[in-house]
Amino acid sequence: MPDQESSQILRALPSVDALLRTPEAQALREQTGAPRLTALARAVTEELRAALQAQPGQAARANGDVTRASLLAEAVKRLAHSVEQDSSKNLRRVINATGVILHTNLGRAPLSQAARLAVSREAASYCTLEYDIETGARGRRGAHAEDLLAELTGAESALVVNNCAAAALLTLSALARDGETLVSRGELVEIGGDFRVPDVMAQSGTRMVEVGTTNRTKLSDYARFVNEATRLIMRVHPSNYRIVGFTSAPALAELAGLAHDSGLLLYEDAGSGALFDLAPYGLSGEPVIRDSIAGGADIVTFSGDKLLGGAQAGLVVGRRELVERLRKSPLYRALRADKLALAALEATLEAYRRNAHLSEVPALRMLAQASEELEKRLRAFTRRLRSRVKSDVLVFESVAGESAIGGGSAPTTHPRTTLLALKHRTLSAAALEEALRRAPMPVIARILDDRVVLDLRTVAAEEESELLDALLSLP
Ligand SMILES: *Cc1c(COP(=O)(O)O)cnc(C)c1O
Repeated sequence: MPDQESSQILRALPSVDALLRTPEAQALREQTGAPRLTALARAVTEELRAALQAQPGQAARANGDVTRASLLAEAVKRLAHSVEQDSSKNLRRVINATGVILHTNLGRAPLSQAARLAVSREAASYCTLEYDIETGARGRRGAHAEDLLAELTGAESALVVNNCAAAALLTLSALARDGETLVSRGELVEIGGDFRVPDVMAQSGTRMVEVGTTNRTKLSDYARFVNEATRLIMRVHPSNYRIVGFTSAPALAELAGLAHDSGLLLYEDAGSGALFDLAPYGLSGEPVIRDSIAGGADIVTFSGDKLLGGAQAGLVVGRRELVERLRKSPLYRALRADKLALAALEATLEAYRRNAHLSEVPALRMLAQASEELEKRLRAFTRRLRSRVKSDVLVFESVAGESAIGGGSAPTTHPRTTLLALKHRTLSAAALEEALRRAPMPVIARILDDRVVLDLRTVAAEEESELLDALLSLP
């Protein structure tokens, strides 16, 4: 193409100002604010210029004749697309059809209705975060959640911080800084998201003393290293992995005996930790916090948004005097929980107190859902889909499969489920997965054996219609 023709096309390129003056751009301004829209318009015109310079011939052919008007229309289209992409970066609700109950990337535990209301109706306004309505005086932050935690675990006292990593850091720092902490080599784990036990130890200022071996650690391995400088014995729940085969570790009560006979404290980082025995649901390795306290642990930490099913929080329970030392530590001010998390946690713990947790707390309800029940739900869903979908677009069938716990909990537990396996007439499995993810109501699915599979275990009953709409809106 001669240079003259190419520069003619470039001259027809709309200016940023011309693009911003179009009625379409004017309408978008409300959504983005003027500075952001200008930045996007600049990027769009640059992109268009680069495209024309790279392949001027093709651009001309594709548009028939490249006129000022057709280039402006193309720029408007691209601008609308950029604005849409921009807004999809917001924190958005998604439908989790992966069957992974505590999906870390999707925010772990979904909140119960009561927790949602507590956040939006109470905590989002002025609230009694540190205020005592009875006396009009200053109150203790998190008081009610902490009292509930103590009650539900049988501990003397409790404290709530930002997450379990913070709880571990605070505990080690307040109770063992400038001293030694004994830990089994089999428990020097990485939990994910860069929580590594040796690193947290180093950060807290305690000196880590490794005892035993990766697969076997005896009580005498701990006893050998007790000296003047020892402060804590730390026990860490391995959470996201398991050592199987020739293994052994002392029982918590034995460790507590050794710790107390030696004038030390026993600290257990239970990780997920359950408030009741989850063995009936296939989770046998999860420490029950009440048992840890009864077994002699002086301090136990665990997460608020793993198997407990509440908001992100680090929960500390244990002996009153020790919990108060944590509360008085200068680190506490940096690590404490915010009002939204406290409100959600409190409402979640109240469901436990009413013994309504299995029906009200979504993560537990999903976990407790029997495979027969899931099969029944899927049959009803499939009937709805079959009656409305154009039969030449999607081919689907139900297949037996497995859900997962996720969130670094119970890696070997895979509850039985029934999956909906989908094949699209024209889209590959990867393209179908992407189309669902990019739907107006994003659906996050898995690919298994070259098919997209949906697991209703993690889809709330109220979300089924939205899931159906996403499937019906496929090209
Ligand atoms: C998950 C986990 C943590 C980190 O908890 P967060 O709440 O994600 O900070 C710490 N310790 C153990 C043993 C865990 O399983």
